[in-house]
Amino acid sequence: MANDMMAHFELLQPAQLDDALALLERHGEDAWKLAGGHDSLSWFKDRVKRPKVVVELTGIDALRGIKETADGVEIGALTTLTEIEHDPLIRAKYALLAHAAGKVASPQIRNVGTLGGNVSQDARCWYYRYGLDCYRAGGNTCYADTPEGMNREHALFGADRCVAVSPSDTAPALIALDASMVIRNSDGERVVNAEDFFIGPAVNIERMTVLEPGDILTAIRIPHTWAGAQFYFEKVADRNTWDFALVNVASAMVVSNGMIERLRIACGGVECVPKRLKVVEEIVQGSPPDGETGALAGKSAVRGAKPLNYNHFKITLMENLVKRAIRDA
Ligand SMILES: Cc1cc2nc3c(=O)[nH]c(=O)nc-3n(C[C@H](O)[C@H](O)[C@H](O)COP(=O)(O)OP(=O)(O)OC[C@H]3O[C@@H](n4cnc5c(N)ncnc54)[C@H](O)[C@@H]3O)c2cc1C
Ligand code: SF4
Repeated sequence: MANDMMAHFELLQPAQLDDALALLERHGEDAWKLAGGHDSLSWFKDRVKRPKVVVELTGIDALRGIKETADGVEIGALTTLTEIEHDPLIRAKYALLAHAAGKVASPQIRNVGTLGGNVSQDARCWYYRYGLDCYRAGGNTCYADTPEGMNREHALFGADRCVAVSPSDTAPALIALDASMVIRNSDGERVVNAEDFFIGPAVNIERMTVLEPGDILTAIRIPHTWAGAQFYFEKVADRNTWDFALVNVASAMVVSNGMIERLRIACGGVECVPKRLKVVEEIVQGSPPDGETGALAGKSAVRGAKPLNYNHFKITLMENLVKRAIRDA
């Protein structure tokens, strides 16, 4: 695809959240929210998405920073992945998120890419990114889910016309930590569980999250619930840097007297949303965190997987990652 001049847009750079919300309300579907730009700019450069107006959020200081609260920690949506990776509080209590943030792309991308952008990024299916008129782009076919379709990166679960997967490395970590997402629009604020923030194609095939055009994700809250737990994050990609996960796993586990008291675990890269593995959470409770429990957990995790022509390998990969999350945390 030609990577030529970007299509013209009007760039608006508010310094206050209320001004940004007013601009989004005024421009509706014509406006695009810009944070670090690592997802957005490739859309613009490929001229696949051509917003009339871009509202840059990076000048809004109120959307940055990490602060301890009475209930846990609150992270401004514009906080960069590098800041999260190195923050002493996150590393001490919620190291799972620091670890996941540190596995995104490359240091250059993490220095600019934000947590809000990471969880709000769009699908990485190459047919869609190249501007083909597939279901997700408003058309009536899926190019990946065909006998010859290039679908080794695609879904094992939850497909509904579209078989794209959740590409984010931080999303499963936020689900494992039971985070919630604070969303503002010109009508006020709402708080949504991380698990409900991500949506699959059966709910809305053209969006990956509940965010509406007038919404800004302002912060992510992580409660105390899993602070200091035994964490595990692992990502397997074709390359060790600058690459998306084929499958990743994030888990938080509390062990007492040698037995798993509670576990929360999610995988990315296997469904359009980060997949929380509730069955695994239930069956390991009361068992030792060893290889045997891990093997059982791995097998349960992949039950019901529906592979496409070229992604059968993801079943074994997911099974092994879940096993290691229990055994090696
Ligand atoms: C080469 C390359 C490799 C990558 N590798 C990985 C990887 O390994 N793992 C991974 O997880 N990601 C990866 N990414 C994806 C992505 O660039 C990064 O995850 C980055 O964190 C995105 O953040 P950003 O701030 O740059 O997003 P932006 O591009 O600014 O925004 C992304 C999307 O989120 C929306 N958005 C941003 N902030 C908000 C907000 N506060 N409220 C509402 N909507 C908002 C934007 O409108 C846009 O649709 C990669 C990207 C590239 C280009
Ligand atoms: S997997 Fe989804 S994004 Fe990819 S071609 Fe099919 S409908 Fe489009």
